[in-house]
Amino acid sequence: METADRSDAPVIVVLDGPAGTGKSTVSREIAARLGLSFLDTGAMYRAMTYWLLQNGVDVDDPEAVAVASAKPVIRSGTDAAGPTITVDGRDVSGPIRGSEVTAAVSAVSAVPEVRVRMVELQRGSAASAPVGIVAEGRDLGTVVFPDADLKVFLTASASIRAVRRAAQLGVADPAGIAEIHADIERRDAADSGRAASPLAKAADAVEVDTTEMSPDEVIGRIIDLVRERAAVPAR
Ligand code: C5P
Repeated sequence: METADRSDAPVIVVLDGPAGTGKSTVSREIAARLGLSFLDTGAMYRAMTYWLLQNGVDVDDPEAVAVASAKPVIRSGTDAAGPTITVDGRDVSGPIRGSEVTAAVSAVSAVPEVRVRMVELQRGSAASAPVGIVAEGRDLGTVVFPDADLKVFLTASASIRAVRRAAQLGVADPAGIAEIHADIERRDAADSGRAASPLAKAADAVEVDTTEMSPDEVIGRIIDLVRERAAVPAR
C-alpha cells in the first residue's frame, strides 16, 4: 500500500450524499488505496440509535433522546482494512444494520445534542488519523469538516439506490425491494428536511452522479480528484 506524504495537517476527504449512493463502499476503498483512515459516520448515528432502543428510550421524544445521548461510549475503529464500531465496548457492527435501527435513526440524528456529540467524535477521529481520513455521511462538507481538502457529494436515482441497497442486504423479491425504496425515500426526506445539519451539498463540493457508474469508476474519479487537491503520492 502506498502512504501519503503528510507534511502538516491530515488530509481530509469527505463524501456526503443520501442513502444507497455507494458512499461506504467507495469511501472505504479509496481510504485503503491511499493509505488513509476511514470513518463511516452513519454507523455512529446507528450505534447511538441502537443503544437508545436497547435501553428503552423513546426515540420519538427528542428531550429524552437529548438527555440519554450523553451516556453511551461510542468508538469507531478507523482502519480501512477492518473498520469497527463499539458501544460501551461491545461490537455492534451487525445489529446497527437491522430494520429497527434503520427505521429510528433519522429521528435520533435530528436531535441537536446527538449531533454535537457525534461531530466532536468525528473531528477527534480525523485529528488522530496518522496520515489523513476519508469520512462519509450527510453533513461532513457543510458542518463537520468545512475546510476539507476535497468534498464530494454523491447522488443517484432513488430506484437504483434501492436496488443497490437490496443487493447489499441480500433482498431479491420485488416486495422487499419496494419496501427498501420506500424507506430510502422516507429517510431522504427526513434527512434533507430536518433543522439541524440537514443533508446538503456544500457550495464547494464536487457532485458525482453514480446512477450509471460502476463502483470502480466512482473510486477512480474520486482518487483523481484527491490527487489534484492533496499531497497523496501516486501508487
Ligand atoms: O449512512 P447511513 O445510511 O448508515 O446513515 C444512517 C442515518 O444516519 C442517516 O439516514 C442519517 O439520518 C444519519 N446520519 C446523519 N449524519 C451523518 C451520517 C448519517 O444524520 N453525517
